[in-house]
Amino acid sequence: MIAAFVDVPSADALARIPRALAFRYDVLPLSLHRDELVVALSDTADTGVLDALRRATRLRIKPHPMARELIRERLSAAYGSEAPAPGLDKRRAAEAPAVRSVDGMFERAITAHASDIHVEPGAAGGTIRLRVDGILAAPQTVAPDVYNALVSRIKLLAGMDIADKRQPQDGRLSIPLEGREVDARVASMPTIDGEKLVIRLLDHHAQTCDITALGMPPQMLADYRRLLRSPWGFIVVTGPTGSGKTTTLYASLADLDTASNNVCSVEDPVEMRVPGVTQVGVNPRAGVTFESALRGFMRQDPNVIMVGEMRDAQTAAVAIAASLAGQLVFTTLHSNDAPRTIERLMGLGVARQSLAAGLTAVLAQRLVRRLCERCRGVAPIPAEIKAHFAVADRTWSVPVGCPACAQTGYCGRVGVYEMLVVDDALRDTIGAGGSGVALAAAAASGGYRPMSEDGFAKVQSGATSFAELLRVVAWRGPG
Ligand SMILES: [Zn+2]
Repeated sequence: MIAAFVDVPSADALARIPRALAFRYDVLPLSLHRDELVVALSDTADTGVLDALRRATRLRIKPHPMARELIRERLSAAYGSEAPAPGLDKRRAAEAPAVRSVDGMFERAITAHASDIHVEPGAAGGTIRLRVDGILAAPQTVAPDVYNALVSRIKLLAGMDIADKRQPQDGRLSIPLEGREVDARVASMPTIDGEKLVIRLLDHHAQTCDITALGMPPQMLADYRRLLRSPWGFIVVTGPTGSGKTTTLYASLADLDTASNNVCSVEDPVEMRVPGVTQVGVNPRAGVTFESALRGFMRQDPNVIMVGEMRDAQTAAVAIAASLAGQLVFTTLHSNDAPRTIERLMGLGVARQSLAAGLTAVLAQRLVRRLCERCRGVAPIPAEIKAHFAVADRTWSVPVGCPACAQTGYCGRVGVYEMLVVDDALRDTIGAGGSGVALAAAAASGGYRPMSEDGFAKVQSGATSFAELLRVVAWRGPG
């Protein structure tokens, strides 16, 4: 009996654990007895893996010890290649179109360099849309029966509760594609039409980790890197969701000297590993919050502390205290521009005297789409814009469209930046509790220029178009 299930995993057992999950955790399903699944794994006490399997299968899991090498050897034999293995039961056969559409969906998204996949229910089935360079496009319709199977399949892979369709849930999945692992974060939302999923592909963040490749103007880049190397201070990177803040944070971490500094980072979630950096993921259930991790770091002789996001007064207070105690702290905050970030921090309850003493700089940013270099064209600059900006150029670049850019005229993105370096005059204004207007005036006299200037420089250089800049950056001029 025992020998039988050890040698040949049963088809119904295999059908309960998706291939990706089995390979991810090195587990081999062996047999199914009513609601109990016998699973071979090397560490039968690994509660993390057992919990994940329990969530994914909604079955009781009975661990069976087996050497990891042996499991790996048998996994390929059990699951075969990517194609469905023969001898599957009917239930598995019904799932096959969903398996194919999930794989196809991820392939399409990776090929298009999408950052997110939106799986949206509708009256007649559903729609899959991809976010590419910040724009949702390329909708693909899905038949109603396939839609439900597709959603279940993704939730299963992400370790979410398939049966629960009424609560928003989140999960993570990892699927092998084109010889590498693609990691994604999945969030579900119950809508009046059914469940909607948004999948954030974490792979694409890995592309730009070079701070010099983000598109910061040279002088600003030099100033920012100098501030990153100062022994203490408080640097805030700000912008709305999707403005590239996370990429900037990772590029900043990667730019630090981790060999001679203790660099600690708390993130929600850790999207990318940075060599030499102590990275901690937020986990409220285990009591790990931005604040508690930050307090923990303070007891471990830190030099640089990165806090993924400043969300509450307590975290902000500890972060400012850390910077005043002689650490360099950097973080992100949702805000529209650099001067308003100071107001936001005061709004979070940070004492203005501490803020005045601690804050070093605010970097605000947006991402604009880069004009496709293969097809971009030129057009005359409208007279009123020529007059407003006092530009001598007669023409600027405009999008055209070609096969290389899927007829959009754009390919990839580049950051548009502004940086507010806190000088003595601004420190005084912050300390005196100055209004937004007073802060902006003090910032301007200290050399601060709004990001529309960097943006317009990028229009003039042909990196992007004026229309694209208007789409992304708040504007107070003609256009
Ligand atoms: Zn093109």
